[in-house]
Amino acid sequence: MTETRELICINCPLGCGLTVTMKDGEVVKVEGNTCPKGEAYGKKEVTNPTRIVTSTVRVSGGLMPVVSVKTASDIPKEKIMDCARVLKDVKVQAPVAIGDVVLENICGTGVSIIATKNVSAA
Ligand code: SF4
Repeated sequence: MTETRELICINCPLGCGLTVTMKDGEVVKVEGNTCPKGEAYGKKEVTNPTRIVTSTVRVSGGLMPVVSVKTASDIPKEKIMDCARVLKDVKVQAPVAIGDVVLENICGTGVSIIATKNVSAA
């Protein structure tokens, strides 16, 4: 069975409209991309969509009450909401430095959550 999916490439501000054609669950064609990144994105998005997740977690004893964090690499798209729920209850102790691991293996993805800002102790 042949099916098509319409997507917008999110790899750069150009936002090319992609048409991904699949046959029996396999990608056979990606059209509309201006560069190879779009083709790779189109293929991955219909077979194994992943995202970097950015958020904040609470900080105890710091000059700021929260610190921004992100996943160290892409995680499966279907785990994003689970991760958001877990991060809501995470609290770290100041000081926090950029790159500190705030949480390991979030939601069984094998991916760590790392700090993206410095927060000094109060
Ligand atoms: S296909 Fe290439 S040029 Fe188009 S949005 Fe994606 S990265 Fe940008």
